[in-house]
Amino acid sequence: MNGNTSTTAKAERLPDTASLSGRWKSIDWRHVEAVVNRLQVRIAKASREKKWNTVKRLQYLLTHSYYAKLLAVRKVTTNKGRKTAGTDKVLWNTPALKMRAVLSLTDKGYKARPLRRVFIDKKGKKTKRPLGIPTMYDRAMQALYALALDPVAEVTADGKSFGFRKERSCQDACEYIFVALSRGYCAKWILEGDIRGCFDNISHDWLMENIPMDKSVLRQFLKAGFVFEGELFPTDDGTPQGGVISPILANLALDGMQKVLENRFHTNQKGEFSYLYKSRNRVNLVRYADDFIVTAETLEIALEVKELLRDFLKSRGLELSEEKTAITHINDGFDLLGWTFRKFNGKLLIKPSKKSVKTFTAALSETILGQGKMWEQEKLIHKLNQQIRGWVNYHQSVCSKETFTHIDYILFGLLWRWAKRRHPMKGKWWISTRYWHKVGDRNWVFSTENVRLLKAADFPIVRHSMVRMDKNPYLDTQYFINRKFKNGMKRLSGKFKQVWKNQSGCCYHCGLSMDAGEKKDIYFKIPKSQGGMEHVSNMAYVHPYCQSLFLECRAKAL
Ligand SMILES: [Zn+2]
Repeated sequence: MNGNTSTTAKAERLPDTASLSGRWKSIDWRHVEAVVNRLQVRIAKASREKKWNTVKRLQYLLTHSYYAKLLAVRKVTTNKGRKTAGTDKVLWNTPALKMRAVLSLTDKGYKARPLRRVFIDKKGKKTKRPLGIPTMYDRAMQALYALALDPVAEVTADGKSFGFRKERSCQDACEYIFVALSRGYCAKWILEGDIRGCFDNISHDWLMENIPMDKSVLRQFLKAGFVFEGELFPTDDGTPQGGVISPILANLALDGMQKVLENRFHTNQKGEFSYLYKSRNRVNLVRYADDFIVTAETLEIALEVKELLRDFLKSRGLELSEEKTAITHINDGFDLLGWTFRKFNGKLLIKPSKKSVKTFTAALSETILGQGKMWEQEKLIHKLNQQIRGWVNYHQSVCSKETFTHIDYILFGLLWRWAKRRHPMKGKWWISTRYWHKVGDRNWVFSTENVRLLKAADFPIVRHSMVRMDKNPYLDTQYFINRKFKNGMKRLSGKFKQVWKNQSGCCYHCGLSMDAGEKKDIYFKIPKSQGGMEHVSNMAYVHPYCQSLFLECRAKAL
């Protein structure tokens, strides 16, 4: 357990900046990931076999290993919050600082620092949302312990929990709701659950008693307060930075909900699973972090579900918000995760919700008439394309054609205003010929010589293939690699699809598989500055963190 897996004892005798920096830059990340993953797989196996002492021992090994510390530091120094410091005003922004951080990470005498309070803009609203920011050190400690906790959480998780879990997404939740509601004989009633201030209220006693991790470290995390990422919807910017371990803790606290419902509604008097009972009650839970719905055949069953869940939550110090928890008939429809689910004449339709459309058009308006009002056309198109791609990707698997057309229409109006504002003295014809061009058989394409604005309505609707319930991301790796590759082949088109295919869906830098739905960077094998072209053969997808490490290493040459 000691020896070369732990470096913390040597933390006092730190080498100089140059050698630290060199050490960071020469890390073989592929090897690091392989070592950490091996331990995580062992933790997952031991948890599945309920060998809790082995789990504990392996978790200790992992949280004290040099490699896991490397990953933890990489995580907090490549994510969005890396440029925001906590109360100690410390940032780890150079290779040497990062390496020093790795060597100093330890649970010995660990004390979490208080959170720094900041206020961030709420999407599309005037009011601001308070947010607590931990120090870099605390974030890294959380990331480190998250590496050891997640494999356990994956094994014990509710099958139909989709939020903040490896290899699962909002789209999977959406598919499951479709399965649970689409047929004529499916459940008619839906309980829309809303847990009041979920993360602020989870009982610390419950967590201390039930979370399978080092208690003294957990106490420090809890004492310092927590940050729960309230924003669950896809955002291309502005996601808050915070505790990486909090979503795992929240999931662990809410897991078991499914079991409670199954015990009551899927089993007979003898306590055995009964298909008859299951199909009579049609009680199904779908949860995304603290957002959930439960289907039920009748209103009475839905009410009983509510009572059961009230008790379940109470034991964890939580309660359902009376105002926001509603029981709805499927013909009236309900919103979840940015979509509206509703039956029209017996047919279930899933569309982007009104609120989601509104938030998105507000963001477009902010780009075009706000920050981008003085931008060059090309810069504006790049930014808008990024936003459009992100939003469309999210909604691509539901009935969105009409909404996409509507978005294009809104965009045109906004861009016209943008253009007119820039040239108040010019006529319509002048403005239109300057910014809009004929491309192919299409008139009115907002474009320059090099780029053109994407049309949301051009994106095909692609049915999402849902994740299998019985697969574990640590134990069934091949299944997930194949699934991610196929998913990318379905979602990408044109040359991007070819690029994806050429690299078999794996990151060009690290060789590990990538998720087409997540953020990925394009890497030019021959840089554009050296005459590299935007050709399929010169392009490759890479993880954003791999790219930033790559750039950091290349900076050495300068
Ligand atoms: Zn990579």
